[in-house]
Amino acid sequence: MSEYRQDATTGAWIIIAPARGSRPMAWRHAEAHGGPIAAYDPACPFCPGNENLLPTIIAETPMKVAPGWQAREVNNKYPALSPEGDPKPIGVGPQMRLPGFGYHEVIVESPRNDADLTTLSDTELNAVAATYRSCFNVLAQRPHIESVFLFRNHGRDSGASLVHPHAQMMATAMVPPKT
Ligand SMILES: [Zn+2]
Repeated sequence: MSEYRQDATTGAWIIIAPARGSRPMAWRHAEAHGGPIAAYDPACPFCPGNENLLPTIIAETPMKVAPGWQAREVNNKYPALSPEGDPKPIGVGPQMRLPGFGYHEVIVESPRNDADLTTLSDTELNAVAATYRSCFNVLAQRPHIESVFLFRNHGRDSGASLVHPHAQMMATAMVPPKT
């Protein structure tokens, strides 16, 4: 299980999540093969038809103008936090650590592998925002949860492992000091 640990020099809390080291890096694959990003990638877990590569679909926001979904909330295959176990601290004093209790979900923002927030219509963006909001509201009500935040990595240099447009939502059992 992952852990929160406090940096003794800065006071900052960080999450140590060893399992995230085994994420596939689709950007490296895309870069190696060159060319533009495909609208559909048979190896991408977020593309329609590849649901067998996803852990669980939690919720979907349908498209307004066509059949199918516009945005999906799914479990993270490589979560940095887990709702299993007890959120109580381990150890005392400077050695104190916190179990990596919480939730780490993914919001797939389009069925298109090559889309981006900047290319979506207003209607599509509304569906994405509605999905962010419903995901936030559900996580905020869960026991022990003190803070919920949305973040989005875009592009290879940000550390995003998948090309397909997506955001991530984390729910933690503590309020990060900077928040
Ligand atoms: Zn995709």
